[in-house]
Amino acid sequence: MANLELVFYIAVVLVSSVICFCGHWPIFEGTPIHALNYYCTGGIFELLEKCVGFTCGERGLRAIYCVEHYCCERPNPILQIFYFTIVGGAYFAAMTTSFKYIPGPYLSAIHWYLGTGSVVMGLLLFLLTSFSDPGFVSSSNVSDYLAMFPYDGVLYEEKICSTCNIPRPPRSKHCSICGHCVARFDHHCGWTNTCIGENNLRYFMAFLFWHCYLCLYAAFVIAAVIVGEMKRKNLVRLLTVYYGIGSNFQELAPLIFQWVLAFHGEQLMLLLFLGIISLLLMGFSGYHLYLIIINTTTNETLKWENYKRLKAERVNTHEMPDDTSLSTVEVAKKRSKHSCSIPFFTRRNSQNKLQRENIYDRGILQNLAEVFFPRSSRLWWQDLTLFKVKYS
Ligand SMILES: [Zn+2]
Ligand SMILES: [Zn+2]
Repeated sequence: MANLELVFYIAVVLVSSVICFCGHWPIFEGTPIHALNYYCTGGIFELLEKCVGFTCGERGLRAIYCVEHYCCERPNPILQIFYFTIVGGAYFAAMTTSFKYIPGPYLSAIHWYLGTGSVVMGLLLFLLTSFSDPGFVSSSNVSDYLAMFPYDGVLYEEKICSTCNIPRPPRSKHCSICGHCVARFDHHCGWTNTCIGENNLRYFMAFLFWHCYLCLYAAFVIAAVIVGEMKRKNLVRLLTVYYGIGSNFQELAPLIFQWVLAFHGEQLMLLLFLGIISLLLMGFSGYHLYLIIINTTTNETLKWENYKRLKAERVNTHEMPDDTSLSTVEVAKKRSKHSCSIPFFTRRNSQNKLQRENIYDRGILQNLAEVFFPRSSRLWWQDLTLFKVKYS
């Protein structure tokens, strides 16, 4: 019973972690996890504000705003350190609980090296994503990025970035945390402490896919260790022949589960952890792969949602004229400032709902090639900017 309570406790801790750290992800939009995340994160800060304001006054409030500014609005390595702690902790737990059973009935000695090598590869991909240039736009490369995509006239229009004081290329966004405009901006990733953009989206995807594989592989190894131990100890035979338990699933399963809890409880908890993390990672990777396939970004998805909301609010004013009366060619002419390019335009579907037509979408294969085999002739090590000043 004590073991069951322990598993329940661990499951509650894991679910709480998912709500706190991942609940804001777009895949949880509209789900109770998203709502709980909003309540927990915002609610806790509001409570803290009230407590500190009540006990320490203005000085205390200034101190927590300072901490909040550093944690949320400045580049900082907090989540990077947290990532290393999680991966290091999980690897240490796997090493101490499971490596001693390798080789076993279902695992050859190669898994000892494969496991360690896979973790090292994951760490290298994390470092590559964290320290490569996401596509920071500067006066020296702005002309290259300006030529890369046309302005669509809806989400992107010609403008000068008031902070960088250079033209803002189509599909770019100024990241207030990094302090730069970033080409083909996707989002600012707190885990890697950098923006995800034109130059490092492929490394970010490799990082996500590799960690999906890593979690599933580690879960497979641990499961194979447990099943291997069951086989080595002839557990089923022991239960059926010596203890007279029926050989059907309903009778055997609870006893086997009790045996696993008693002798491999830590591995079972690790399996739970890996299962939850791999599900989250697969959802997040799948969402990003979908965005790449339709050639859009997280930023554009949010901008489009804002556009639709504004359109709904102002549809009867002169600020955003409704284009539905015009043909698509007229809309294209009206909105494009690039006579050589097809502009982004919108149309309404049969339910009179505004639909996005994405001029950047060049077909699945071309969209995938654009991210994973970019036109830039730079090699991956040339993207590394380990010494760039990020903490100023
Ligand atoms: Zn800027
Ligand atoms: Zn950023």
